[in-house]
Amino acid sequence: MLFRGYTFALRPTVEQAEKFAQTAGVCRLVWNLALEQRRTHWRNYQGRTGNNLNYVTQARELTLLRAEMDFIREVSQNAQQYALKALDDAYRRAFKGLGGFPQPKKKGVNDSFTFTGREVSVERLNHRWGRVKLPKIGWVKFRMTRDVEGKMTEATVNRTALGWQVSIGCKIDRDIQDVGGAVGIDRGVAVPLMLSDGTAYRLPETVALLDRRIRKAQRIASRRKRGSNRCRKAQRRVAALSAKRARIRKHWAHETTTDIARKFGTVVIERLRTKNMTKSASGTIAEPGKNVAQKRGLNRAILNVGWHQVETMLFYKAFRVVKVDPRHTSQTCSACGNLDSRSRKNQASFVCSACGFHSNADQNAAINILQRGNTPVVEPATLQAMKRELPLVETLVV
Ligand SMILES: [Zn+2]
Repeated sequence: MLFRGYTFALRPTVEQAEKFAQTAGVCRLVWNLALEQRRTHWRNYQGRTGNNLNYVTQARELTLLRAEMDFIREVSQNAQQYALKALDDAYRRAFKGLGGFPQPKKKGVNDSFTFTGREVSVERLNHRWGRVKLPKIGWVKFRMTRDVEGKMTEATVNRTALGWQVSIGCKIDRDIQDVGGAVGIDRGVAVPLMLSDGTAYRLPETVALLDRRIRKAQRIASRRKRGSNRCRKAQRRVAALSAKRARIRKHWAHETTTDIARKFGTVVIERLRTKNMTKSASGTIAEPGKNVAQKRGLNRAILNVGWHQVETMLFYKAFRVVKVDPRHTSQTCSACGNLDSRSRKNQASFVCSACGFHSNADQNAAINILQRGNTPVVEPATLQAMKRELPLVETLVV
Protein backbone atom coordinates (compact mmCIF):
# COMPACT_ATOMS: atom_id res chain seq x y z
CA MET A 1 0.00 0.00 0.00
CA LEU A 2 1.28 3.42 -1.01
CA PHE A 3 0.15 6.85 0.12
CA ARG A 4 0.34 9.82 -2.14
CA GLY A 5 -0.63 13.42 -1.69
CA TYR A 6 -1.60 16.01 -4.26
CA THR A 7 -1.55 19.74 -3.58
CA PHE A 8 -3.38 22.21 -5.79
CA ALA A 9 -3.89 25.98 -5.62
CA LEU A 10 -7.60 26.68 -5.23
CA ARG A 11 -9.42 29.49 -7.03
CA PRO A 12 -12.43 30.09 -4.78
CA THR A 13 -15.06 32.73 -5.46
CA VAL A 14 -15.32 35.57 -2.93
CA GLU A 15 -18.17 33.78 -1.12
CA GLN A 16 -16.25 30.50 -1.07
CA ALA A 17 -13.15 32.21 0.35
CA GLU A 18 -15.36 33.65 3.11
CA LYS A 19 -16.73 30.20 3.78
CA PHE A 20 -13.17 28.82 3.96
CA ALA A 21 -12.22 31.43 6.55
CA GLN A 22 -15.38 30.69 8.53
CA THR A 23 -14.81 26.91 8.48
CA ALA A 24 -11.16 27.31 9.43
CA GLY A 25 -12.19 29.66 12.25
CA VAL A 26 -14.73 27.23 13.70
CA CYS A 27 -12.33 24.27 13.44
CA ARG A 28 -9.64 26.35 15.15
CA LEU A 29 -12.12 27.23 17.90
CA VAL A 30 -13.10 23.57 18.34
CA TRP A 31 -9.46 22.52 18.50
CA ASN A 32 -8.52 25.25 20.99
CA LEU A 33 -11.54 24.58 23.22
CA ALA A 34 -10.88 20.84 23.21
CA LEU A 35 -7.20 21.44 23.93
CA GLU A 36 -8.05 23.78 26.79
CA GLN A 37 -10.43 21.16 28.16
CA ARG A 38 -7.78 18.47 28.00
CA ARG A 39 -5.06 20.65 29.49
CA THR A 40 -6.87 22.15 32.45
CA HIS A 41 -10.23 20.49 33.02
CA TRP A 42 -9.63 16.80 32.53
CA ARG A 43 -9.52 15.97 36.26
CA ASN A 44 -12.69 17.93 36.88
CA TYR A 45 -14.35 16.29 33.86
CA GLN A 46 -13.47 12.81 35.10
CA GLY A 47 -14.78 13.58 38.57
CA ARG A 48 -18.03 15.02 37.19
CA THR A 49 -18.88 12.43 34.53
CA GLY A 50 -16.77 9.39 35.40
CA ASN A 51 -15.59 9.32 31.76
CA ASN A 52 -12.16 9.71 30.32
CA LEU A 53 -11.62 12.80 28.22
CA ASN A 54 -10.97 11.47 24.74
CA TYR A 55 -12.22 11.72 21.18
CA VAL A 56 -15.53 9.97 21.86
CA THR A 57 -16.49 12.09 24.86
CA GLN A 58 -15.32 15.31 23.26
CA ALA A 59 -17.25 14.55 20.04
CA ARG A 60 -20.38 14.04 22.17
CA GLU A 61 -19.85 17.44 23.75
CA LEU A 62 -19.35 18.95 20.31
CA THR A 63 -22.81 17.75 19.29
CA LEU A 64 -24.28 19.59 22.29
CA LEU A 65 -22.29 22.71 21.44
CA ARG A 66 -23.56 22.61 17.85
CA ALA A 67 -27.15 22.55 19.06
CA GLU A 68 -26.58 25.82 20.92
CA MET A 69 -24.41 27.79 18.51
CA ASP A 70 -25.68 28.80 15.06
CA PHE A 71 -22.29 29.77 13.67
CA ILE A 72 -20.85 26.39 14.63
CA ARG A 73 -23.77 24.54 13.06
CA GLU A 74 -23.29 26.37 9.76
CA VAL A 75 -19.95 24.63 9.23
CA SER A 76 -19.47 20.97 8.29
CA GLN A 77 -19.67 18.80 11.40
CA ASN A 78 -17.23 16.30 9.98
CA ALA A 79 -14.52 18.93 9.63
CA GLN A 80 -14.99 19.77 13.31
CA GLN A 81 -14.93 16.12 14.32
CA TYR A 82 -11.80 15.74 12.26
CA ALA A 83 -10.17 18.51 14.32
CA LEU A 84 -11.03 16.59 17.50
CA LYS A 85 -9.70 13.37 16.02
CA ALA A 86 -6.47 15.14 15.03
CA LEU A 87 -6.13 16.42 18.59
CA ASP A 88 -6.68 12.92 19.93
CA ASP A 89 -4.04 11.52 17.55
CA ALA A 90 -1.61 14.29 18.51
CA TYR A 91 -2.03 13.38 22.19
CA ARG A 92 -1.52 9.67 21.49
CA ARG A 93 1.65 10.40 19.55
CA ALA A 94 2.92 12.73 22.27
CA PHE A 95 2.33 10.11 24.98
CA LYS A 96 4.22 7.57 22.89
CA GLY A 97 7.09 10.05 22.63
CA LEU A 98 6.65 10.45 18.88
CA GLY A 99 6.03 14.19 18.96
CA GLY A 100 5.45 17.27 21.06
CA PHE A 101 2.20 18.01 22.85
CA PRO A 102 -0.45 19.78 20.78
CA GLN A 103 -0.47 23.57 20.86
CA PRO A 104 -3.23 26.13 20.42
CA LYS A 105 -3.88 27.16 16.82
CA LYS A 106 -3.50 30.81 15.86
CA LYS A 107 -5.63 32.79 13.50
CA GLY A 108 -3.91 33.40 10.19
CA VAL A 109 -1.14 30.91 11.01
CA ASN A 110 -3.04 27.62 11.18
CA ASP A 111 -6.04 28.32 8.98
CA SER A 112 -6.98 24.86 7.82
CA PHE A 113 -9.67 22.20 7.94
CA THR A 114 -9.92 18.61 6.78
CA PHE A 115 -12.61 16.37 5.33
CA THR A 116 -12.50 12.62 4.97
CA GLY A 117 -12.16 11.23 1.45
CA ARG A 118 -15.75 9.96 1.34
CA GLU A 119 -17.18 13.48 1.62
CA VAL A 120 -15.11 14.92 -1.19
CA SER A 121 -15.17 14.42 -4.94
CA VAL A 122 -12.78 15.61 -7.60
CA GLU A 123 -13.55 16.19 -11.29
CA ARG A 124 -11.48 17.30 -14.21
CA LEU A 125 -13.13 20.08 -16.24
CA ASN A 126 -10.58 20.42 -19.05
CA HIS A 127 -6.83 20.10 -19.54
CA ARG A 128 -6.15 23.06 -17.21
CA TRP A 129 -8.92 23.15 -14.68
CA GLY A 130 -10.48 20.78 -12.21
CA ARG A 131 -12.95 21.17 -9.39
CA VAL A 132 -13.36 19.69 -5.94
CA LYS A 133 -16.65 19.36 -4.08
CA LEU A 134 -16.43 20.20 -0.38
CA PRO A 135 -19.28 19.71 2.14
CA LYS A 136 -21.32 22.89 2.85
CA ILE A 137 -19.06 24.84 0.47
CA GLY A 138 -19.72 23.29 -2.93
CA TRP A 139 -17.61 22.96 -6.07
CA VAL A 140 -14.36 24.93 -5.94
CA LYS A 141 -12.19 25.37 -9.01
CA PHE A 142 -8.47 24.69 -9.05
CA ARG A 143 -5.63 24.45 -11.55
CA MET A 144 -5.39 20.68 -12.07
CA THR A 145 -1.74 20.11 -12.81
CA ARG A 146 -1.97 16.33 -12.65
CA ASP A 147 -4.46 13.52 -12.31
CA VAL A 148 -5.36 12.20 -8.89
CA GLU A 149 -4.56 8.49 -8.61
CA GLY A 150 -5.95 6.05 -6.04
CA LYS A 151 -8.67 6.17 -3.39
CA MET A 152 -9.05 9.50 -1.61
CA THR A 153 -8.53 9.27 2.16
CA GLU A 154 -8.72 12.92 3.15
CA ALA A 155 -8.64 16.47 1.83
CA THR A 156 -7.19 19.42 3.73
CA VAL A 157 -7.84 23.02 2.78
CA ASN A 158 -5.34 25.50 4.17
CA ARG A 159 -4.38 29.12 3.74
CA THR A 160 -0.88 30.09 2.68
CA ALA A 161 0.54 33.51 1.96
CA LEU A 162 -0.20 32.75 -1.69
CA GLY A 163 -3.86 31.92 -1.16
CA TRP A 164 -5.93 28.84 -0.35
CA GLN A 165 -4.79 25.40 -1.39
CA VAL A 166 -6.08 21.86 -1.09
CA SER A 167 -4.02 18.76 -0.29
CA ILE A 168 -5.65 15.49 -1.23
CA GLY A 169 -4.33 12.29 0.31
CA CYS A 170 -4.77 9.04 -1.64
CA LYS A 171 -4.23 5.36 -1.00
CA ILE A 172 -2.79 3.45 -3.94
CA ASP A 173 -3.02 -0.31 -4.16
CA ARG A 174 0.61 -1.14 -4.86
CA ASP A 175 3.92 -1.22 -3.02
CA ILE A 176 7.26 0.44 -3.48
CA GLN A 177 9.47 -1.80 -5.59
CA ASP A 178 13.08 -2.48 -4.71
CA VAL A 179 15.00 -1.29 -7.76
CA GLY A 180 18.25 -2.64 -6.26
CA GLY A 181 21.55 -0.88 -5.77
CA ALA A 182 22.57 1.43 -2.95
CA VAL A 183 23.74 4.99 -2.66
CA GLY A 184 25.24 7.17 0.08
CA ILE A 185 24.21 10.80 0.41
CA ASP A 186 26.33 13.55 1.94
CA ARG A 187 24.53 16.69 2.97
CA GLY A 188 26.94 19.55 2.54
CA VAL A 189 26.92 23.30 2.48
CA ALA A 190 28.57 23.98 -0.87
CA VAL A 191 26.56 21.24 -2.57
CA PRO A 192 23.30 20.52 -0.73
CA LEU A 193 23.18 16.86 -1.73
CA MET A 194 26.12 14.85 -3.05
CA LEU A 195 25.69 11.19 -3.97
CA SER A 196 28.41 8.58 -3.68
CA ASP A 197 28.25 8.07 -7.46
CA GLY A 198 29.27 11.72 -7.94
CA THR A 199 25.85 13.18 -8.76
CA ALA A 200 25.43 16.63 -7.19
CA TYR A 201 22.03 18.16 -6.59
CA ARG A 202 22.02 21.94 -6.28
CA LEU A 203 19.19 24.24 -5.32
CA PRO A 204 17.74 26.27 -8.20
CA GLU A 205 19.27 29.75 -8.50
CA THR A 206 15.90 31.36 -7.92
CA VAL A 207 16.19 30.39 -4.24
CA ALA A 208 19.25 32.60 -3.72
CA LEU A 209 17.55 35.35 -5.70
CA LEU A 210 14.48 35.09 -3.51
CA ASP A 211 16.69 35.15 -0.40
CA ARG A 212 18.01 38.55 -1.46
CA ARG A 213 14.56 39.85 -2.34
CA ILE A 214 13.17 38.67 1.01
CA ARG A 215 15.97 40.39 2.94
CA LYS A 216 15.32 43.59 1.01
CA ALA A 217 11.56 43.36 1.65
CA GLN A 218 12.27 42.77 5.35
CA ARG A 219 14.42 45.91 5.49
CA ILE A 220 11.64 47.93 3.89
CA ALA A 221 9.07 46.53 6.33
CA SER A 222 11.26 47.31 9.34
CA ARG A 223 11.67 50.96 8.26
CA ARG A 224 7.93 51.54 8.03
CA LYS A 225 5.84 52.66 10.96
CA ARG A 226 4.59 49.65 12.92
CA GLY A 227 0.90 48.91 12.51
CA SER A 228 0.51 51.26 9.54
CA ASN A 229 -1.10 50.11 6.31
CA ARG A 230 2.14 50.55 4.42
CA CYS A 231 3.94 48.38 6.98
CA ARG A 232 1.33 45.62 6.74
CA LYS A 233 1.58 45.71 2.98
CA ALA A 234 5.37 45.29 3.20
CA GLN A 235 4.94 42.43 5.66
CA ARG A 236 2.53 40.69 3.30
CA ARG A 237 5.15 40.95 0.60
CA VAL A 238 7.74 39.29 2.85
CA ALA A 239 5.27 36.50 3.61
CA ALA A 240 4.38 35.97 -0.05
CA LEU A 241 8.03 35.83 -1.13
CA SER A 242 8.85 33.41 1.70
CA ALA A 243 5.96 31.17 0.74
CA LYS A 244 7.17 31.19 -2.84
CA ARG A 245 10.68 30.23 -1.76
CA ALA A 246 9.34 27.42 0.42
CA ARG A 247 7.30 26.12 -2.50
CA ILE A 248 10.29 26.12 -4.86
CA ARG A 249 12.44 24.39 -2.27
CA LYS A 250 9.81 21.76 -1.66
CA HIS A 251 9.43 21.14 -5.37
CA TRP A 252 13.19 20.75 -5.65
CA ALA A 253 13.19 18.30 -2.74
CA HIS A 254 10.46 16.28 -4.44
CA GLU A 255 12.24 16.14 -7.79
CA THR A 256 15.53 15.23 -6.16
CA THR A 257 14.20 12.53 -3.84
CA THR A 258 12.02 11.00 -6.57
CA ASP A 259 15.07 10.82 -8.81
CA ILE A 260 17.16 9.16 -6.09
CA ALA A 261 14.43 6.68 -5.15
CA ARG A 262 13.97 5.67 -8.80
CA LYS A 263 17.67 4.92 -9.26
CA PHE A 264 18.51 3.25 -5.94
CA GLY A 265 16.67 0.74 -3.77
CA THR A 266 18.72 1.50 -0.66
CA VAL A 267 19.57 5.02 0.44
CA VAL A 268 22.18 5.56 3.17
CA ILE A 269 22.12 8.90 4.97
CA GLU A 270 23.82 10.42 8.01
CA ARG A 271 21.92 10.79 11.21
CA LEU A 272 22.07 14.54 11.61
CA ARG A 273 20.43 16.45 14.39
CA THR A 274 19.73 19.64 12.54
CA LYS A 275 17.44 20.89 15.30
CA ASN A 276 20.28 20.79 17.83
CA MET A 277 22.68 22.41 15.41
CA THR A 278 20.31 25.29 14.88
CA LYS A 279 19.76 25.70 18.58
CA SER A 280 23.46 25.82 19.42
CA ALA A 281 24.02 28.73 17.05
CA SER A 282 21.68 31.00 18.93
CA GLY A 283 23.01 29.60 22.20
CA THR A 284 26.61 30.50 21.41
CA ILE A 285 26.03 34.06 20.29
CA ALA A 286 27.79 35.33 23.43
CA GLU A 287 31.05 33.62 22.37
CA PRO A 288 33.54 35.79 20.55
CA GLY A 289 33.45 36.46 16.85
CA LYS A 290 34.10 34.26 13.92
CA ASN A 291 32.92 30.87 15.09
CA VAL A 292 29.41 32.06 15.73
CA ALA A 293 29.15 33.77 12.38
CA GLN A 294 30.44 30.62 10.71
CA LYS A 295 28.05 28.46 12.58
CA ARG A 296 25.16 30.74 11.78
CA GLY A 297 26.11 30.61 8.12
CA LEU A 298 26.18 26.83 8.24
CA ASN A 299 22.83 26.72 9.97
CA ARG A 300 21.28 29.01 7.45
CA ALA A 301 22.52 26.72 4.69
CA ILE A 302 21.16 23.67 6.50
CA LEU A 303 17.77 25.25 6.96
CA ASN A 304 17.88 26.47 3.38
CA VAL A 305 18.11 23.05 1.96
CA GLY A 306 15.47 21.73 4.33
CA TRP A 307 17.17 18.53 5.41
CA HIS A 308 14.25 17.38 7.34
CA GLN A 309 12.01 17.69 4.34
CA VAL A 310 14.43 15.75 2.15
CA GLU A 311 14.81 13.04 4.76
CA THR A 312 11.07 12.68 5.27
CA MET A 313 10.52 12.38 1.54
CA LEU A 314 13.25 9.75 1.20
CA PHE A 315 11.60 7.73 3.97
CA TYR A 316 8.42 7.29 2.04
CA LYS A 317 9.76 7.23 -1.49
CA ALA A 318 12.78 4.94 -1.21
CA PHE A 319 12.40 1.20 -0.71
CA ARG A 320 14.88 1.24 2.18
CA VAL A 321 16.53 4.08 4.09
CA VAL A 322 19.50 3.42 6.38
CA LYS A 323 20.79 6.00 8.84
CA VAL A 324 24.43 5.79 9.89
CA ASP A 325 26.78 7.41 12.39
CA PRO A 326 27.97 10.69 10.86
CA ARG A 327 31.25 11.00 12.79
CA HIS A 328 34.42 11.69 10.77
CA THR A 329 32.83 10.96 7.40
CA SER A 330 34.46 14.04 5.93
CA GLN A 331 37.97 13.31 7.33
CA THR A 332 38.18 9.59 6.55
CA CYS A 333 39.68 8.33 3.30
CA SER A 334 37.12 6.27 1.43
CA ALA A 335 39.91 4.29 -0.31
CA CYS A 336 42.15 3.21 2.63
CA GLY A 337 40.17 4.21 5.73
CA ASN A 338 42.86 6.52 7.07
CA LEU A 339 41.43 9.13 9.44
CA ASP A 340 43.22 12.49 9.30
CA SER A 341 41.74 15.99 9.45
CA ARG A 342 44.61 17.24 7.24
CA SER A 343 43.30 15.11 4.36
CA ARG A 344 40.44 17.54 4.04
CA LYS A 345 42.33 20.24 2.17
CA ASN A 346 39.45 22.71 1.94
CA GLN A 347 35.71 22.86 1.45
CA ALA A 348 35.93 21.23 -1.98
CA SER A 349 38.80 18.75 -2.16
CA PHE A 350 40.02 15.69 -0.30
CA VAL A 351 43.57 14.35 -0.60
CA CYS A 352 44.43 11.38 1.62
CA SER A 353 47.56 12.03 3.71
CA ALA A 354 48.35 8.27 3.78
CA CYS A 355 47.59 6.82 0.33
CA GLY A 356 47.25 9.95 -1.79
CA PHE A 357 43.70 9.17 -2.92
CA HIS A 358 42.08 12.39 -4.09
CA SER A 359 38.48 13.16 -4.73
CA ASN A 360 35.79 15.74 -4.32
CA ALA A 361 35.41 16.17 -0.54
CA ASP A 362 31.64 15.76 -0.51
CA GLN A 363 31.74 12.67 -2.72
CA ASN A 364 34.42 11.12 -0.50
CA ALA A 365 32.09 11.65 2.47
CA ALA A 366 29.14 10.19 0.54
CA ILE A 367 31.16 7.04 -0.22
CA ASN A 368 32.05 6.71 3.48
CA ILE A 369 28.38 7.02 4.35
CA LEU A 370 27.49 4.32 1.81
CA GLN A 371 30.19 2.02 3.23
CA ARG A 372 28.68 2.38 6.69
CA GLY A 373 25.32 1.23 5.33
CA ASN A 374 25.67 -2.22 6.89
CA THR A 375 25.97 -0.72 10.39
CA PRO A 376 22.80 1.33 10.75
CA VAL A 377 22.21 3.35 13.90
CA VAL A 378 18.43 3.02 13.83
CA GLU A 379 16.65 -0.31 13.79
CA PRO A 380 15.04 -1.02 10.41
CA ALA A 381 11.81 -1.88 12.24
CA THR A 382 11.61 1.69 13.53
CA LEU A 383 12.09 2.98 10.03
CA GLN A 384 9.27 0.85 8.70
CA ALA A 385 7.03 2.09 11.50
CA MET A 386 7.95 5.66 10.68
CA LYS A 387 7.24 5.01 7.06
CA ARG A 388 3.70 3.91 7.78
CA GLU A 389 2.99 6.97 9.89
CA LEU A 390 4.15 9.47 7.33
CA PRO A 391 1.63 10.92 4.95
CA LEU A 392 2.76 11.27 1.37
CA VAL A 393 2.85 14.60 -0.39
CA GLU A 394 3.89 14.26 -3.98
CA THR A 395 2.98 17.26 -6.02
CA LEU A 396 3.47 20.96 -6.10
CA VAL A 397 1.14 23.88 -6.38
CA VAL A 398 1.08 25.87 -9.58
ZN1 LIG B 1 43.73 6.86 1.81
